[in-house]
Amino acid sequence: MALNARLDHRNPLVFDTHELGRRPGALQRLTRTIDAPKDLGIQGVIGVPEGAPVKLELRLESVMEGVLVTGTARATAEGECVRCLEPLELQLEADFQEMFSYPDADDRGRVKAEPADDAEDDEDRLFIEDGLFDLEPVLRDAVVLALPMQPVCQEDCPGLCAQCGARLADDPDHHHDAVDIRWAALQGLAGSLEDGEKDEISGAEAGVDEKQEK
Ligand SMILES: [Zn+2]
Ligand SMILES: [Zn+2]
Repeated sequence: MALNARLDHRNPLVFDTHELGRRPGALQRLTRTIDAPKDLGIQGVIGVPEGAPVKLELRLESVMEGVLVTGTARATAEGECVRCLEPLELQLEADFQEMFSYPDADDRGRVKAEPADDAEDDEDRLFIEDGLFDLEPVLRDAVVLALPMQPVCQEDCPGLCAQCGARLADDPDHHHDAVDIRWAALQGLAGSLEDGEKDEISGAEAGVDEKQEK
């Protein structure tokens, strides 16, 4: 079986099914708080920081072909808002359910299953080894599914100003008048005319006024 190295019962994500036993219908509930493994989440977007507490609640149920594991993981994920880039935290609650098969049950199943189906299934199947199972791949998948691909700091985060990069949520009245640019150009033009035509124009206007007054 092309599985990873032998499971280590000291690994906090490895669980022991010996106490549960193999009698179908046997149930065991357990909770365990672990340190988050590396890269738990959506890389570069949002995730549970390595070493942060992840609270696991598990229900193990012994069935004919293995152990059905149902559970919930709770942790605080950290990332940044995709719109305004502010850091954000969210309370993550990830549910999962997975079957861990006994290797010998797998052999029995092989007889019934179509060879093609069997090959496909085998890649995704998880097994109990020496009475132990590794929850890590299940936890990883569940966490990724439970996290937003596009996290936002608030539902209606207005993001950043396209012109100056200011965070609009901090400054709801923030705006740039499109007129500003033209206004600045006009002021520049006015400045260049200050000692020239501008005086002539105002003088001419004044002259008109004087004539009308007389
Ligand atoms: Zn935001
Ligand atoms: Zn701006």
